[in-house]
Amino acid sequence: MSIKDNLLEIKSSLPPHVILVAVSKTKPVSNLMEAYNAGQRIFGENKIQEMTEKWEQMPKDIQWHMIGHVQTNKVKYMAEYVSLIHGVDSLKLLLEINKQAAKRNRVINCLLQVYIAEEESKFGLDENELEEILHYLQNDKLQNIKVIGLMGMATFTDNQEQIKKEFLYLKSLFDKLKTQNSSLITLSMGMSGDYKLAIDCGSTMVRIGSSIFGGR
Ligand SMILES: *Cc1c(COP(=O)(O)O)cnc(C)c1O
Repeated sequence: MSIKDNLLEIKSSLPPHVILVAVSKTKPVSNLMEAYNAGQRIFGENKIQEMTEKWEQMPKDIQWHMIGHVQTNKVKYMAEYVSLIHGVDSLKLLLEINKQAAKRNRVINCLLQVYIAEEESKFGLDENELEEILHYLQNDKLQNIKVIGLMGMATFTDNQEQIKKEFLYLKSLFDKLKTQNSSLITLSMGMSGDYKLAIDCGSTMVRIGSSIFGGR
């Protein structure tokens, strides 16, 4: 199947409230343009340099999402154009994003990444750290960032029950925090292998790469 066919099939299977991020990391611009020409406007990348090179070459009505781990000293390279940063996992990073956005007169949308997996390798905040950051933001309203939701990655496993447990945990956190923070509207969870389960568990944004563009 072509990139276009893959994309249209996945899109037609998503409920209308679920946003599709086409994860294009490692793929050439020609592949991204196939998806663009089939109507896709949101692309996800996990390396700032690669994303910036693609942003420079591609149409300017694309929304670029940073889905990977972000180093504080690299925020400046994407601050001009990035539309959503999924992997915010510290207050320090949030403050730097705010600073770089302010220099460019922008407000950058962010998601707080929550640690839900049973693996050591995944980044993210625990429940206490999450509440600390949200509490900080209630007292010190940063003008140039907006935290619009949460993001999480499940354990890399075939055990569906395990994945489901982790997604439901993130959804319960999201629902709890939403009652105090009306700006929390986005729950980014689900990739090629588990997005259907993620949607059943309450995801509003799925990040799909290999099922659209093929393996990496
Ligand atoms: C690579 C990546 C994805 C997409 O993974 P696929 O399995 O190819 O769909 C989603 N989220 C993050 C954070 C990623 O790094």
